[in-house]
Amino acid sequence: MSKATETVLEIDLKALEHNYRYLRSKLSPKTKMMGVVKAFAYGSDAAAIAKKLENLGIDFFAVAYTKEGVDLRKNGVTKPILVLHPQSGNFNLIVEHCLTPAIYSKYVLEHFIAFAEEKQQQNYPIHLKLNTGFNRLGFAYDDINYVNEALKKTKSIKVEGIYSHFAASEDLNERSFSMGQLEQYLNLSAEILKELPYKPLQHLCNTSGILNYPEAHFDMVRTGIGLYGFGNAPEQDEKLQPVATLKSIISQIHAIKKGESVGYNRQFIAEKATKSATLPLGHADGINRIYGKEKTNVLVNGKLAPIIGNVCMDMLMIDVTNIDCQEGDEVILFGKEKSAEDFANKAGTISYELITSISQRVKRKIIE
Ligand SMILES: *Cc1c(COP(=O)(O)O)cnc(C)c1O
Repeated sequence: MSKATETVLEIDLKALEHNYRYLRSKLSPKTKMMGVVKAFAYGSDAAAIAKKLENLGIDFFAVAYTKEGVDLRKNGVTKPILVLHPQSGNFNLIVEHCLTPAIYSKYVLEHFIAFAEEKQQQNYPIHLKLNTGFNRLGFAYDDINYVNEALKKTKSIKVEGIYSHFAASEDLNERSFSMGQLEQYLNLSAEILKELPYKPLQHLCNTSGILNYPEAHFDMVRTGIGLYGFGNAPEQDEKLQPVATLKSIISQIHAIKKGESVGYNRQFIAEKATKSATLPLGHADGINRIYGKEKTNVLVNGKLAPIIGNVCMDMLMIDVTNIDCQEGDEVILFGKEKSAEDFANKAGTISYELITSISQRVKRKIIE
């Protein structure tokens, strides 16, 4: 890989391919795979990731919001795209761009059917979302009669899938809760399936579900974080490869005298003569203030340097007192050489939050 000359997020499509094949190897050949590419493909580059996954043979995509699906279509993505959280104001865009809405409430069902009928749609594919204990989105047991009656009355939509979502599939202490969700999913979906003259795709697992609950793979699984190289457990992280590497460079080096401060609000005070380096990225780039004040560190010429003081909007400062380095040298915040999970954990958060926060100001560099 080339040396960075500015802050850049490198996206390694070979690593994506490795992760895709690893996750596929956990599935039976007949189980379909849905690549979750919401939030700019977890902060990377949704179009580049989706195109690569299409080439590799992914079956489906999922995004959170309609606009994300529209952007993929404009970039030439042709596989089905499930919109996990559509808003009724966007149904025109959904139909115009052949996106598949997740229908999770009576309100959304009623409004989507009305819209589909008005547009004279026939068998427009939808996925039904069931609430099995996450209590975020989804139909409850008491809604099922309404759903069945509504489906019987219209020809405008067709249930292509029925799914639910684990609340804690990565946490084996919550195994009995997850097994309860699985059972509830089976019970709720059975109530719908027995009224349908065809068989929709059943799906429940996210990445940790794939790894921890093989009995719950059903017809399809939805994988996000695993594709990007994280398995929510050290032994899984070892098998996966991080797709994104965040690199920056040293803009300036300062000799700080004992007693002097660095940065806003003087949150670093030198206890001894200190060498600091300033990097061209800050909280506007997604390295939030929680990572400052020596909570986390970065890699400079193979050595760890803590982030000191408050992270600024466009810059942050690190302590390189004991590191042989110069202005223009490359710095790695996270990636293959340095775990994003670890970087996030040190500040009390998770890889999901860190990688999806890298803002659009940071240049993406796709590595084929
Ligand atoms: C984000 C999301 C996923 C992907 O979860 P990972 O843990 O990243 O694999 C799957 N399903 C739903 C409903 C989601 O919102």
